[in-house]
Amino acid sequence: MSAILLVEDEIAIAETVVYALQADGHAVRHCLDGQQARAAVVDAVFDLAIFDIGLPDISGFALCGELRRRAPLPVIFLTAQAAESERVLGFDLGADDYIAKPFSLRELVARVRVVLRRGAPDAAMGEAKRSGAFEHDGAGRRIRYHGRALDLTRYEYGLLAALLARPGAVLSRMQLMERVWEDAPGSGDRTVDTHVKTLRGKLRAVVSGGDPLRTHRGIGYSLDID
Ligand code: CA
Repeated sequence: MSAILLVEDEIAIAETVVYALQADGHAVRHCLDGQQARAAVVDAVFDLAIFDIGLPDISGFALCGELRRRAPLPVIFLTAQAAESERVLGFDLGADDYIAKPFSLRELVARVRVVLRRGAPDAAMGEAKRSGAFEHDGAGRRIRYHGRALDLTRYEYGLLAALLARPGAVLSRMQLMERVWEDAPGSGDRTVDTHVKTLRGKLRAVVSGGDPLRTHRGIGYSLDID
C-alpha cells in the first residue's frame, strides 16, 4: 500500500480521486491548500504527491518545490489549464507526470501506478548496459553518468534513453517526439528543446564543461557516449 498526498481545493474532484485511489489500494491524505500540505509532510512520509496547480494560498508548482526541498517525492500535477507553458514549467520542476482536467479516474489511477512503480525504493539497480560514460538500467529506468546516478524526470529519462540506444546517431525532434512523448499528443518542438536543455544541465552538473549532447542545427540531437 502506498501513501499518497493529494492537495486539491475542489472538494468534488478530491472526493472522487480519493475514492478511486483508495479502491486501488492506496492510503490517501487529502489537503485543501498549501498550509495543510506543509503540516501533513511533517508527520507522515508519502510515496507520491498529487498537486492541483491552482490552490488558494500557493501555486501547486511552488508548493512542489517547497516540499521537495524537504525530501524527494514523485509528483503528478493536476491542472485545468493545459497550456504548453505550464506543461514545460511542470516538467522543469521535476514533475513525473501531468494530467489535464477533466481527466478520467481510470487514467489517473493508471498514471499513479506507473509513477509509483518507477519511484519504488526497492527497484534496485538491475542489469545495466554500459555505453562509454553511461550505464543504463532499462528495467529500473535509471541512468548513471560517470558513475553518478542521474535524477531525471520521466521525459528527460526517455530522451536520454532514446539517444543512448543509438550513440552518435542524429535523431530528429520528430523522432524524439514519437519515441518519448507518444502519450502526450500536442507537445511541440519546443518541448524537446526544453528537455534537452534541462538534461544538459544535469549532465554538466556531473562533469562541468563537458557536453555529450550535441545539437545539429535544423536537424536534431545526438549523444556522444565517451
Ligand atoms: Ca484548484
